[in-house]
Amino acid sequence: MSLVQHWVDGATFAGASTRTAPVYNPATGAVQREVALATTDDVAAAVAAAKKALPGWAGMSLAKRQQLLFAFREVINARKEELAAILTAEHGKVTSDALGEIARGLEVVELATSLPQLLKGEYSENVSTGVDVYSIKQPVGVVGIISPFNFPAMVPLWFFPMAIAAGNTVVLKPSEKDPSASIWLAERFQEVGLPDGVLNVVNGDKESVDALLDHPDVAAISFVGSTPIAKYIYERGTANGKRVQALGGAKNHMLVLPDADLDLVADSAVNAGFGSAGERCMAISVVVAVEPVADELIGKITERMSGLKVGDGTRNCDMGPLITKEHRDKVAGYLDVATADGASIVVDGRGVEVDGEANGFWLGPTLIDRVPTTSRVYTEEIFGPVLSIVRVKSYEEGLALINGSQYGNGTAIFTNDGGAARRFQNEVTVGMVGINVPIPVPVGYFSFGGWKDSLFGDTKAYGTQAMHFFTREKAITSRWLDPSHGGINLGFPQN
Ligand code: NAD
Repeated sequence: MSLVQHWVDGATFAGASTRTAPVYNPATGAVQREVALATTDDVAAAVAAAKKALPGWAGMSLAKRQQLLFAFREVINARKEELAAILTAEHGKVTSDALGEIARGLEVVELATSLPQLLKGEYSENVSTGVDVYSIKQPVGVVGIISPFNFPAMVPLWFFPMAIAAGNTVVLKPSEKDPSASIWLAERFQEVGLPDGVLNVVNGDKESVDALLDHPDVAAISFVGSTPIAKYIYERGTANGKRVQALGGAKNHMLVLPDADLDLVADSAVNAGFGSAGERCMAISVVVAVEPVADELIGKITERMSGLKVGDGTRNCDMGPLITKEHRDKVAGYLDVATADGASIVVDGRGVEVDGEANGFWLGPTLIDRVPTTSRVYTEEIFGPVLSIVRVKSYEEGLALINGSQYGNGTAIFTNDGGAARRFQNEVTVGMVGINVPIPVPVGYFSFGGWKDSLFGDTKAYGTQAMHFFTREKAITSRWLDPSHGGINLGFPQN
């Protein structure tokens, strides 16, 4: 069985670890390879390589860095089918969705190619007589990036191209469930000329994450994953004096007003609820229907659900399997919770007919109506193809529900009333809002991130906020000698 190793200092790195974890093909249920789990010393070797590469990389001209990012963009684009096949094999998502993930990741690489513009400082001439002040943006140093299983290419691409563009070097720790995409990306970047040690990949679990959080030479941590781990990462990383951004989990509501176009709503709910088997942090998991639309809407949603093909992502299907058997069982367990809590299961995804092998980690699209807001089905992040319907009487009741959620990642309103939509965008306590758009993932040149327990730290991912996170600003006050302004003055200069 092949072993996915680490990538350190521009080459495959075996490390000292004897621990490994299985990497499944979720569509067959079979272990297809093992992944090495790094030790603290393995992580230290990767950090040392990144530290060694830092002065050369930070000192490289913006033009040369930019050319490397252009070349990286080209090689990913030219070979995206190969990367998509890796995503499908290890994550299970269907090929079209894998290609969509790559396209969204490429957006950030494209943004990173504008590094000369993004890294510009400011300059004020003659702030005091003969004195100029200007600012420059310098890299923070070695950046640790820890990513989740659900976007094995896109989430790493949200961070490392921007970190590297800013002159930092990186140690990336991808999810151990689907590690190969990160290794593939590091190899491609190396092939187009990225200097050794600028991008390193360590595979591993908690031990490697803790090693990054505790290593004194790691200056900043970008994390994406579930809320409890995000909180832990933020607390431990900042306690160690690091700059940390930790993006967490989600429970995204779609508020449907009675004047909405219900066909558009049904299409959107199905796409956003079941795309990527609901394993998206921006998936819609709760439809909040302002009565009297719920019954009609459920009819339209179930009609569309009946046409969804579930199966192996390499075949012509709409939805693939879940990531592991344990996760599938956990998600399916919420159907029992729903029944016990008095909700009604409209479509039951257990026992779904699939175009794939019997041992795959399958759960079909599931729709649950009248979910009590006290039920765990409503309060917890399920992260699977389970869509809940909650019926409310008014906009205000729906808004209060959304604002009462622990999470604040994404939300959407569907209405034809511009005034209601405008009020919603102002009043809702969520970081990313869609208006008649179900998955409002901002494009690369805006920034991605939620509010409340969906983001710990004050900086979002990519967009201009990424350059803020990955650089330290230095303000320089300069005066070139003019003998007429010499002399003793113990106060601040005032004119
Ligand atoms: P996870 O929290 O289990 O794992 C994320 C990363 O943390 C992985 O690299 C993993 O190896 C590491 N990790 C796991 N347990 C750890 C521990 N005890 N100590 C230290 N590190 C640990 O998340 P996941 O299951 O891989 O991904 C799904 C979650 O990620 C969902 O909650 C989803 O909402 C969230 N997510 C959020 C966003 C966002 O932008 N907010 C994007 C994608 C996914």
